Amino acid sequence: MSMPNGYVRCHGCTFEGIKQHRPITLEYRLPSGETVEGFRRFTWCSTCNNITEAEEVIESGSIQAEIKKIEQRNRGIAKRLFGFSREDLAELKYLQAKLRLAQARHSPARCLRCGEFAVTPLKFDSNGTSNITHSCGRSLFLVPEEPDAPRFMFLPEVIRLDADGRRI
Ligand SMILES: [Zn+2]
Ligand SMILES: [Zn+2]
Repeated sequence: MSMPNGYVRCHGCTFEGIKQHRPITLEYRLPSGETVEGFRRFTWCSTCNNITEAEEVIESGSIQAEIKKIEQRNRGIAKRLFGFSREDLAELKYLQAKLRLAQARHSPARCLRCGEFAVTPLKFDSNGTSNITHSCGRSLFLVPEEPDAPRFMFLPEVIRLDADGRRI
């Protein structure tokens, strides 16, 4: 799988990093043995001093709100006769698994490279300037993409984690 990458440099020093879109699947093992797929996001990790990917930890409150929305949508008389639509049932099952993961989760998001917590979600504004101030005191920016920039090949990888994001 070949994906375009975002090259990131620093306005203040020679730092160079790559925002790499790697085909990774995060698979969490809950204490019950159930596995739930998780999300990740690009971050700045101050432990790695680099751009990394980290877990995206979703709070149980926002998942509960989504579940409630589906339940309310299915509360009409017709729906009471026929039950939940197939799509809603599938969505509900998916959200309930996510909720069990959120409830089993105690620690904040971890960097997928070093496993530490010193991660900040990485964002760029429309000018390509990031929200991250580098250790040199200047900000990181996204280098405009060149069409012939090298591409990297990555094999799909599954990262298995426990509910608290530790590799298993
Ligand atoms: Zn710098
Ligand atoms: Zn790290």
